[in-house]
Amino acid sequence: MNEFDFIKRLRGQAQSRRHSTRLITGIGDDGCVISESSGCDLIVTTDLLTENVDFLRGVTPARLLGHKALAVSLSDIAAMGGRPFWSLLSIGMLRDQWNSNFKDEFYEGFFELADHFGVALAGGDVSETTVGIVIDSIVLGEVTAGVAIKRSGARPGDQIYVTGNLGGAAAGLKLLELGFTVRSPTVTEGSDADTDASASPDQAKPRSDGDAIQGLLLRQLRPQPRVGWGIVLGERQLASAMIDLSDGLSSDLNHLCQESKVGATIDAAAIPLDDDVKHLCGRRALDPLALALHGGEDFELLFTVNRDNVSRLPKAVDGVSISRIGEVSDDSGAVRIREKNREWELQPEGFEHFRE
Ligand code: ADP
Ligand code: MG
Repeated sequence: MNEFDFIKRLRGQAQSRRHSTRLITGIGDDGCVISESSGCDLIVTTDLLTENVDFLRGVTPARLLGHKALAVSLSDIAAMGGRPFWSLLSIGMLRDQWNSNFKDEFYEGFFELADHFGVALAGGDVSETTVGIVIDSIVLGEVTAGVAIKRSGARPGDQIYVTGNLGGAAAGLKLLELGFTVRSPTVTEGSDADTDASASPDQAKPRSDGDAIQGLLLRQLRPQPRVGWGIVLGERQLASAMIDLSDGLSSDLNHLCQESKVGATIDAAAIPLDDDVKHLCGRRALDPLALALHGGEDFELLFTVNRDNVSRLPKAVDGVSISRIGEVSDDSGAVRIREKNREWELQPEGFEHFRE
């Protein structure tokens, strides 16, 4: 297949989906044309995913990579309180990958997630690389004019919340590094919120080690962006500040506090730990709290809420609940954590490119 046949096929796949909201011209021209909607602000986000830096190619099924490439950008739109509509995805790959079923499986995973949220593939680019896969994932979304939720809006006294639970993705990465592989590389299995392990309200079910390992591998390889929560918090203007947890709670809470020029105190016991991490931590060298604090890529939302708005928060959205983990303080720049009768300053130890 040559480049133009490939683009033609993507164009057909994109057009057949019919969730091309206000997409006047999509794939096939020099640019896509989107009709602006009045009373809305446009949110645009981009993420670069580089082989063996942002993902381990040998252990990442192509389908799950297609899912993740879109998921990470949907998470950014959610973190702004927006609703995603359009994706532009550019990918560079080796000739061998082009000639294998890699690209087909990649787009199967991509479209599966895009369909779930009604996101249209509006364009992209494809190129040959000599060093491995590089993906640039752009998503455009909208929010009611003036209400995008920024990192900078947190005020002393605001309550700090996090969606879902933490530490699973980092544990999954460790398991991949230890040589565990995902059993069945499907996106369908468990892709709905009700089968999403991280959203399950039933925590009492006995879980085998094998199930826990698979659950954690999928938390790393198939993150579930909290799109529903983003939309609810944005539309109802419930959050004063928000960020998605891509680098790790310790780092991302620091970013939020710095932008807002505030501090925070969080309660270690209130941090929602991933059940599968708790299940396995006795057997393997995994410290659930450290993974939850410093492990990245959970793609949960971290947000702050003025006390007056707390009673308006829904208990759950799409089956995903939230936990109150602390409070914003006026101690600018200082993030503190309390555990039993100890309290210390939480250093940002999450993921950082070019860390020295
Ligand atoms: P150009 O030479 O201007 O980059 P292309 O032939 O690469 O043009 O692209 C033609 C059309 O196909 C454009 O609308 C572009 O957005 C779309 N396109 C190219 N690659 C992809 C891709 N990987 N995914 C989606 N659309 C693509
Ligand atoms: Mg091109």
